Amino acid sequence: MVAFKAPSARPVTIENGLRRLVAPNPSPMTGPGTNSYIVGRGPYAIVDPGVDDAPHLDALIAACEGRPAAICLTHRHPDHAGGAALIAERTGAPIRAWPKPELAHHDRPVHVDRELADGEALPLGDLTLVARHTPGHAADHVAFEIAELGILLAGDALMSDATVVILPPDGDMGAYFATLARLDALGVRRIAPAHGRMLDDPAATIAEVLAHRRAREAQVAAALSSATPRTAGAIAEELYPQLHDRLKTMAALQVQAHLRHLVDQGRALEADGGWISAGA
Ligand SMILES: [Zn+2]
Repeated sequence: MVAFKAPSARPVTIENGLRRLVAPNPSPMTGPGTNSYIVGRGPYAIVDPGVDDAPHLDALIAACEGRPAAICLTHRHPDHAGGAALIAERTGAPIRAWPKPELAHHDRPVHVDRELADGEALPLGDLTLVARHTPGHAADHVAFEIAELGILLAGDALMSDATVVILPPDGDMGAYFATLARLDALGVRRIAPAHGRMLDDPAATIAEVLAHRRAREAQVAAALSSATPRTAGAIAEELYPQLHDRLKTMAALQVQAHLRHLVDQGRALEADGGWISAGA
């Protein structure tokens, strides 16, 4: 067999001022791979450098003519932040991310040169990237709005064809509901998620996600009794009976995220290692 080296992928132009390069990390969790975005018409910023893969990072740096003005992270999960340190080292570009004094279990430790502030505008020539703190999937999650284009780089706050995973304690369902309302209020024209295709009807997508989450939460609430405590695992087993063992822990955590949100709303209580309904 002759060793075959795939040619480096080239970024795809989404619109004048926004290009996308899919990182080579396809999986059931990441879809086709993480979308790394190159924003600007010069100067350029990279949003989510993706995984630490040399040809991918080379292609990102080349797309910025060797000099990215900033490396912006939507959050610190390794499929988004993995390549950040290498690009920073090679180009001197500053890493920008939301402050996170204590890292969560899945987070990649990253040296952040300058912490982002909510609503902060990063000028990129004739375009402006505006940071929007959008916790829920992760506490440090930030979405970036390209103001002039009406496009939101949504990170993992919204995905095409997949449900966003909310794993407590870093993931927070109440915060996620608030984030969805906030993103809806931005009134952007298009959404560029970190996994999957462009979303061209943001209002409809957000309404669909909200409806799905509310329905799931209603099922979790209905699974509770006022007398006998049930565990998140038992409820997950009932709601997702066909799940593979490997995914059961994640499903239980997702249910736990809804349970915590129900507690916040006064609709459930923790009791004896499980949860009961608060009878509201
Ligand atoms: Zn993530």
